[in-house]
This record gives sequence, C-alpha cells and structure tokens, in this order.
Amino acid sequence: MSDSPLSVDAALANLLAAAVPISEIETCPADAALGRVLATPLVADVTVPPLDNSAMDGYALRLADWSAERWLPISQRIAAGALGGELAPGTAARIFTGAPVPSGADCVVMQEDCEVHDGKVRFANAPRAGSHIRRAGEDIRAGQTVLEAGTRLGPAQLGVAASVGATTLGVARRLKAAVFFTGDEIVLPGQPLAPGRIYNSNRATLIALLSQMGIEVIDLGQVPDRLDATVATLERAARAADVVITSGGVSVGEEDHVKAAVEQLGRIEMWKVAMKPGKPLVYGRVGNADFLGLPGNPVSAFVVFCLFVRPFLLRRMGAESQPAASFTVPAGFDWIKPGKRREFLRARLQDGWAMLYPNQGSGVLTSLAWADGLVDIEAGASVENGDSVRFIPLSELLK
Ligand code: AMP
Ligand code: MG
Repeated sequence: MSDSPLSVDAALANLLAAAVPISEIETCPADAALGRVLATPLVADVTVPPLDNSAMDGYALRLADWSAERWLPISQRIAAGALGGELAPGTAARIFTGAPVPSGADCVVMQEDCEVHDGKVRFANAPRAGSHIRRAGEDIRAGQTVLEAGTRLGPAQLGVAASVGATTLGVARRLKAAVFFTGDEIVLPGQPLAPGRIYNSNRATLIALLSQMGIEVIDLGQVPDRLDATVATLERAARAADVVITSGGVSVGEEDHVKAAVEQLGRIEMWKVAMKPGKPLVYGRVGNADFLGLPGNPVSAFVVFCLFVRPFLLRRMGAESQPAASFTVPAGFDWIKPGKRREFLRARLQDGWAMLYPNQGSGVLTSLAWADGLVDIEAGASVENGDSVRFIPLSELLK
C-alpha cells in the first residue's frame, strides 16, 4: 500500500477497472425479472400505441366541418377496444379515451366542451388540428430498442417490457456474493451476549444491501480471529461465489487475519483513501472470485459499501449505472474542524437545510438509520451555518 492516499474518485476508478461484467445470459420470465439486469436488448415488435387514439372522452370530427353554430350529427360511437369506421363528412363520432380515432377525423373535442342535443353535437370553441389525439407510435415504434442491455429492471422498465408484449427477458445470471464476518467479539442476535461482546450488525446491513441489489447471498457466518479459520472460510467462499465480501479484520492489528488469508490464497490490493469514515479500500482475487474487505466499524462498512462496493458490484452484474446524484443545500450546522480527508457526514434534510446527527462516530450506526443522506465535505474545508454543502441522498447511493 502506497503511503500517499488516493482521492475517492481515483480509488473508485481503480476498483471499477477490476470489475469484469458477468457474461452468462439466461432467460427469465418477465414477471420474475424485478431487479435483474437486462443482458439482451429488448426490441419492440409492436407499435405503441398501435393506432391514433383519443386522449379524452368526447367527440371526433373533421376540423373543416367546424363552425361555432353548426350542429354535427353523431354518426358513430367508438369505445376503447372497438374499431370505428371512416367518419362520414359533416358528422362527428362519439369517442372514448383510448378508442381509435376514425379515419377522416383530425381532432377530438373533450365532452366538457361539447353541447349535445337530439343526436347532434356542436362546439362553441374552434378545435385545434390534432387536439386530444395520441398518435400511433408516439411511445414506441416496432423495431425500436426500448430497453438497452445493462438496464436494471425496475417497475417502469418491466411496464415497458409488458407494453411491447414481452413475456421473457434475456438477463444476466444473478451474481453470487459469499459473505462472512470476522471478530471474536461479535455475536449473532438470538445468542447470549457475554461481557465484552457486541451483536453483529454488519451481517444484517450487508445482507440487506446485497439482497436489495438482486444479488444472491451465501452467508458463511462468523469466523473467529484466527488465520487458519479465516483461510478455510475464504477458500470455501471463493469456490461458492463470484464475489467474496467480508467485514472486519482488515486493519493491521495482530487480530486482523483477513489480509494474510487473502495473500495466502490469492492476491490483495489495499488503497489508502483520503476519506472519513473509511479504512483502506481492500480488493483482491481468490481463485475466480473477487474479494472485497469491508471495515468492521458499522458506519465505515456502510459508507464504503455505498461509495465503492456497490458501483463495483453493479458493473460486475453487467448493469449500467450513473454516479450518485447530489445537490447543494444550506448547512444547518458549523463544521469548524477541517481535516485532511474528505468527510461524509450523516445528515438529514429539515426544511431544505442539512442537519447533522450529533454523533458522527464511525461506530454509531443509529446515525445512518436516522440520516437520509450524506453531507460531502472536501478535505480541508470548513463550513459555517448557511454555507452551501453537497448533499448525497442515501436513496441515490442505494438505488
Ligand atoms: P475491525 O475492522 O475488525 O478492527 O473492527 C473495527 C470495529 O468494528 C471494532 O470495534 C469491532 O468490534 C467492530 N465490528 C467488527 N465487526 C462488526 C460487526 N459484524 N458488527 C458490528 N461491529 C463490528
Ligand atoms: Mg476485528
């Protein structure tokens, strides 16, 4: 590990350069594809909407037939799902939202603007050409690629796939992540808490973060702070998964065996990153698996996951992803202890102002449960109440 720390952006670039997108493609029922990554572009074989259709309940007419006083006989009635006939000149068609506009008609007047009497209709105000007509193909044209490879399939994307009639989708194989947790002090909830022990919170957080991304999690449990146990579990993990993610044990203390275990079985790279919270960013390869070592401190683990591991995993899953969006807000706090490292502070927006959680310790996990974003403070910067600060919503870091 070099002594001069990397910027967050440089460290992320290093890590992303190591992420090889998964190449196996499988066919998935569209109904079960939520959260999957599209691997085969989806090309529409239908046009949406298929025909010019009415955007309103009302009357379709030929603009040339309109004058303010003229009554037009209602010559047909077209409901959604029906096909009308050609509109006879000098007449209007009763039409409903979603119904095809009859040929010959070139505008629709909504029923609120119509006067109807004795099978005839008139319109006080001049319609505009094309008004309230949704054009065939204004959403999708047959032959068009509607979803690109690399698209993560959320509710809107699954709706688009359904709108072109797709029942199956070509998706990337689900990524498998094996996880394990180091630390002789950690105890699973449900077990008695002996003196000096703490509950394992990283397990709950990490499994939730991975599951939310659509990653299959293989939980190899807790591993004692011993080299042999760490090596054995790491070996199993690397055989079972595409990516191995661990918590704790990557500091340089005598009880930290993860680094040595990775070195023994593969190779490891550690990049010192000029950020807080966070420890070195730890990447390695063991067999055919990537290795990512999260810090043990729960807040550090979460933030390192969001800023580095998640973008790595998304690329590994074959997903196109954008960097997290952020915006500036006024600081509802003073930050008068400029540090050498870029800081990511747990914050919440209140009436548009960023408020800080009072305890910013890297072990204070309640700060993250309270926060709805991170305030990003450049190294060396100090902030006074009312200054503009960059706010990254947690939803952006988790989407
Ligand atoms: P380490 O990175 O192993 O030196 O751990 C740093 C700190 O994080 C220590 O205070 C650990 O007790 C704590 N820690 C490590 N693993 C966990 C975990 N799974 N859940 C909660 N705290 C942890
Ligand atoms: Mg430890």
